[in-house]
Amino acid sequence: MKARIGLEIHVQLSEAGTKLFCDCDSEYRRYPPNRNVCPVCLGLPGALPVPGRRPLALALAAAKAFNCRIPEWIVFTRKHYFYPDLPKNYQITQFEKVGGAPVCLGGYVEFLNTDTWEWVRVGIRRINLEEDPGRTYYEGDIMTSRYAHVDFNRSGVPLLEIVTEPEVRSPREARLLVEYILLTLEYIGATNPRLEGVFRVDANVSVEGGERVEIKNIGSTLDVEKALRYEIKRQAMVLERGGRVERETRHWDAERGVTKPLRYKEEEAEYLYFPDPDLPPVKVTGDLLAEAEKLASRSPRMIYEAVESLGVRREVAWSIVSSPPAAERFLEAVKLGGDPQVLARMIGVDYKGELRERGLDPNDPSRWPPAETLAQLSKLVSSGEYTYDSIRGLVLPKLAENPGADVKSVLPEKVSDVDALVEEVLRREVKAVKDYLSGKEKALNYLVGAVMRAARGRALDPREARRKLLERLKAMKEG
Ligand code: ADP
Ligand code: MG
Ligand code: ZN
Repeated sequence: MKARIGLEIHVQLSEAGTKLFCDCDSEYRRYPPNRNVCPVCLGLPGALPVPGRRPLALALAAAKAFNCRIPEWIVFTRKHYFYPDLPKNYQITQFEKVGGAPVCLGGYVEFLNTDTWEWVRVGIRRINLEEDPGRTYYEGDIMTSRYAHVDFNRSGVPLLEIVTEPEVRSPREARLLVEYILLTLEYIGATNPRLEGVFRVDANVSVEGGERVEIKNIGSTLDVEKALRYEIKRQAMVLERGGRVERETRHWDAERGVTKPLRYKEEEAEYLYFPDPDLPPVKVTGDLLAEAEKLASRSPRMIYEAVESLGVRREVAWSIVSSPPAAERFLEAVKLGGDPQVLARMIGVDYKGELRERGLDPNDPSRWPPAETLAQLSKLVSSGEYTYDSIRGLVLPKLAENPGADVKSVLPEKVSDVDALVEEVLRREVKAVKDYLSGKEKALNYLVGAVMRAARGRALDPREARRKLLERLKAMKEG
């Protein structure tokens, strides 16, 4: 079934350092409840908001990265509603229709569909900069909790609302698009997509012959795909049975894997939007734009193309690009004279694999050795001093434990007495030797393995072990 999909993606600028209109921390998760607050984000009477420079620069950098038109003035709007997590009873956001200019007035994003390896273009309708509300929570559930708790640590955290055109073609592409947008924002230094609750997606979807349905509050990229798959099937079934798909808002129940109708949604008129009189329009100065441009200078696409142009397979290139610290180290290590093929395998496949196996985050820069270390290792492989396999098997695990370690301290000792090891194995493995001498050539592989095991964690090139074994076996045959 063909569907049209448009997404509204809310992403916190968790890396901004400050909230949108005060100096409290943008990364609120590390505080006990109501400890990351001040009169501004608590909405106390008389407290005045002042737009923070970094959140503005990051929002403008996002606008640049998504090829947007940027207005001359940024205008903030009040959106009114009553809820315990909203202390002022209005949220400061942006709303064009009442003269508030968003930070982005239409642009586009080109994301890589990693199933087909095509770049796919989707229009961006607008990007708003707004404040996140606080959080309400309950002990156990809402019906049995003695109290309703309100935590304002999140109140005022800068939030981007990115709205796409309804041009996304499938649930799978919706997921890849969201992942690409998050990665772009990670490259800018705007957000850490792996923080709990750092982004939410509202997905709009319609099928031919039906109205659009909005699915609210999807919390993971996997759920974006699942929710849309479910919803498209549901709509198709309604139409098949001769029913009508009405315009409505639904909620994604991730646990049951179904969308459910929401009872009520405010109409826009009920929000009483108007420009915020406490916030004079912010002029987008050349200074601000220059800062934004600098932040947006590295995009996943640019880096992907740089990595691929070095002859790296696209799957591996994408694996490198999807972890910004990996990409940074790869390009730096190549500059330092490392071999792109060796480095791609080491960084994009095996080191990343080591981190994953340990349950560590490959996008956390502190998990990565410096580029010099990786370049040195690559050179040791290229010069033939160590095999790639001995670096992978004996060095990468040690670096994953301690990324700051000196190369010398993690290099395995080399086997200096290969001949003695070979003798020992030939003496011990009587049956395999006999098999080999009687024409079972496969026994040689077994013997090579035995020599490698006898090296016990020291570095040894299996080709050397094989060569020495062959020499001795030949002598035995002839002798
Ligand atoms: P609203 O102001 O009511 O939120 P918008 O025009 O801003 O509506 O659109 C919200 C989202 O709905 C956008 O992401 C847009 O791409 C999407 N959308 C609009 N029309 C359709 C449609 N027919 N099918 C699917 N998505 C749609
Ligand atoms: Mg909307
Ligand atoms: Zn504050």
